[in-house]
Amino acid sequence: MSTFQAPKGTYDLTPPRSATFLAVREAISAPLRDSGYGYIETPGFENVELFARGVGESTDIVTKEMYTLTTKGGSQLALRPEGTASVLRAALEANLHKAGNLPVKLWYSGSYYRYERPQAGRYRHFSQVGAEAIGTEDPALDAELIILADQAYRSLGLRQFRILLNSLGDKECRPVYREALQSFLRDLDLDEETRRRIEINPLRVLDDKRADVQKQLTDAPKLRDYLCDACKAYHEEVRALLTAAGVAFEDDEKLVRGLDYYTRTTFEFVHDGLGSQSAVGGGGRYDGLSEMIGGPVLPSVGWALGVDRTVLALEAEGVELDLPATTSVYAVPLGEEARRVLFGVVTELRRAGIAADFAFGGRGLKGAMKSANRSGARYTLVAGERDLAEGVVQLKDMESGEQSAVPLTEAAAELAKRLG
Ligand code: AMP
Repeated sequence: MSTFQAPKGTYDLTPPRSATFLAVREAISAPLRDSGYGYIETPGFENVELFARGVGESTDIVTKEMYTLTTKGGSQLALRPEGTASVLRAALEANLHKAGNLPVKLWYSGSYYRYERPQAGRYRHFSQVGAEAIGTEDPALDAELIILADQAYRSLGLRQFRILLNSLGDKECRPVYREALQSFLRDLDLDEETRRRIEINPLRVLDDKRADVQKQLTDAPKLRDYLCDACKAYHEEVRALLTAAGVAFEDDEKLVRGLDYYTRTTFEFVHDGLGSQSAVGGGGRYDGLSEMIGGPVLPSVGWALGVDRTVLALEAEGVELDLPATTSVYAVPLGEEARRVLFGVVTELRRAGIAADFAFGGRGLKGAMKSANRSGARYTLVAGERDLAEGVVQLKDMESGEQSAVPLTEAAAELAKRLG
């Protein structure tokens, strides 16, 4: 160990576990790539004001969890705590919404940062794959995103996850509900901080995990009873499309999510094997966000799935991903001359598109064969002085154990043939 360790709340991805992370990113993005979503990448930091306005001044993410910094030039920046605000900012800046092809469908993958209290499944640096469909109000788009996330989790072999669904109403009906909820909450016996929350973000009080708070909330007014006809019809259509697609979901009135920008459809994916940090992904519709950050009216919907927690969910379910070995051929030279010759063969194989590795460091046969085994290679090439004198290399099939001498000049072609 060195003098240094990974900062609190972070961890390193190292082989072999890192291969699972790559496979999870690939599996989550595959259904998006097949459904018209284009790849977008934005900076790891943004102007702090983007998140304050976009995510919401009253949210935990903005008030407590953001890593902010002032540059030498005096700019106020924040490490990105989430992806949606940045992606929408970038789409607007590039005028993607003006290309006459709405919705603009984008997917992304990257690192996010939140100064949270670390615990199992909750880190200060984590990884998300996300999708945003910008500029269209259509319940089929909300349904598409939920169906694609369900497909992604299933393709990984996950089964013990549930989809929670809710509607938060829109700018017509939500304010009416908000007021009704506020006057109900003001009469309750609550601490100072919660009282403050009633005034800035009353819906979040419904999310309070404490039993003494929950007990008082049984008769709280229900958002469902306040949804306007347009929101009700929209939500019914999302539900019908999911049902028709065979995607099971649970209606969850309490699902308000921790970001201010959501309107109408909100959803969360929870996994039952993860303990308290059970949300593996979440998202929803954000019809007002574009205007909140100074853009035009662009109703949009999106989600972000956590890669770290998806890997934990796989481990909780005991799912082993079928990850093919990365090396097909492993070369073991015995002696100086063989080292030069086999290194040449390895280079030739690689240029021909065959994954090959080499026993570096002039190790003995036994140690080198152990590495060959560990590499998962289907074939090993072994050559010593006598082989070279005869112009051959020994080609061993690691599955059957069969070994045969192959002319050196034909080794690469023979391997290409055998590996198909
Ligand atoms: P959110 O935007 O908070 O709903 O986050 C979306 C997903 O990102 C969550 O469902 C988690 O899987 C993941 N996530 C959020 N915060 C963290 C964190 N601090 N550590 C690990 N994963 C996280």
